[in-house]
Amino acid sequence: MNQMTPIRSIPDLAHLRADFPILSQTVRGKPLVFLDSAASAQKPEAVIEAMTQAMRTQYANVHRGLHWMSERTTDAYEGVRDKVARLINAPSRDEVIFTQNSTAAFNLLAHSFGATLQPGQAVVISEMEHHANIVPWQMLRDRRGIELRVARITEQGELDLGSLRALLSDGRVGLVAVTHMSNVLGTITPVQRIAEIVHEAGARLLLDGSQAVVHRRVDVQAIGADFYVFTGHKLYGPTGIGVLWGRQALLETLPPFMGGGDMISTVSFEHSTWAELPHRFEAGTPPIIEAIGLGAAIDYVEAIGFEAIQAHEAALTEHALSRLQHIPGLRILGEAQERGGVFSFTMQNAHAHDIATLLDRNGIAVRAGNHCAEPLMQRLGVGSTARASFGLYTTIGEIDLLAESLDQVRGFFG
Ligand SMILES: *Cc1c(COP(=O)(O)O)cnc(C)c1O
Repeated sequence: MNQMTPIRSIPDLAHLRADFPILSQTVRGKPLVFLDSAASAQKPEAVIEAMTQAMRTQYANVHRGLHWMSERTTDAYEGVRDKVARLINAPSRDEVIFTQNSTAAFNLLAHSFGATLQPGQAVVISEMEHHANIVPWQMLRDRRGIELRVARITEQGELDLGSLRALLSDGRVGLVAVTHMSNVLGTITPVQRIAEIVHEAGARLLLDGSQAVVHRRVDVQAIGADFYVFTGHKLYGPTGIGVLWGRQALLETLPPFMGGGDMISTVSFEHSTWAELPHRFEAGTPPIIEAIGLGAAIDYVEAIGFEAIQAHEAALTEHALSRLQHIPGLRILGEAQERGGVFSFTMQNAHAHDIATLLDRNGIAVRAGNHCAEPLMQRLGVGSTARASFGLYTTIGEIDLLAESLDQVRGFFG
């Protein structure tokens, strides 16, 4: 008989938490309970150390110098491209383009891919997109006469595949740009199914992996995506670095976005020619130190392993659901079958900002507001919500503290 191997969770959480210097801080005399990782995650010592060491010992500009230091820095910077390619199983390192963050990647595509669309063609997004995956397409619409269509979500907060199919049925859609995991509802979308539907209609699929890539193993080939976007600072890396992945054959057909150094092959006053991938899309001095930090963050999560991270966070999510559901007057937004550790909620008689302020008195950091998804808030009929989100360092005890503190909040507002 085959023995089932149990999924290994994070074995020693206390030990792992010690990797994150900030987590040992106290806030207002209480231990910091950081439940705002979906906005930006804390950084392990390995990331901080890699960045400071790089500045101390191997720093110069990349790609230009023939001197030893520049070559070393270039190797370090380009080495991170290989790490990113492995992280998401990209077929080629040349398909990995460094950007400033997810937002910059969306803007790059809205310009470069947008330039390949004809007026009258359409881009489809969904009701649960982050502003970063809405506004660049609106700007494209207004610039080029590209129609913007919005796929509905269900009452459970899942992507309505029927609505998506209907929007694709006239064959005029060039691109579908949707999230892999909602930063408000925690919903994980069925990306493989979506890829099939999109490709059947002859369109391309762009996935917003800003949240998903933090919590699960992403395989862009298995998914069948055409473009995938994520941001370094949510993956325990630094700010200032993000990734756009795209299929090589597609990227090669796109015009550059920004012009400048590093993205050219030849330049004269009359005419310039473009560099090969990936440099064609990386104008100017890149975020060298930030890339090195992202590389260290990737090494860090890979060493723990996504199996362990996912098992740990699934336990946290289940625990949070059971605790929060029993608080009278608390409404969790979204009840997707497949979801991750992001919980947005409202409470009777209490404004989200008051909830966040009261929790802060107990050292608990949650977010309050529209979470850069104002259209989704309108769709759900709420002005703002409080949001607790988990990272690999979150503990069951912290969720208990959150639940107890929310009970206090409830008492306060009666
Ligand atoms: C955070 C986030 C973004 C934007 O990331 P930036 O780093 O601010 O560019 C986009 N989409 C989702 C789902 C996010 O959570």
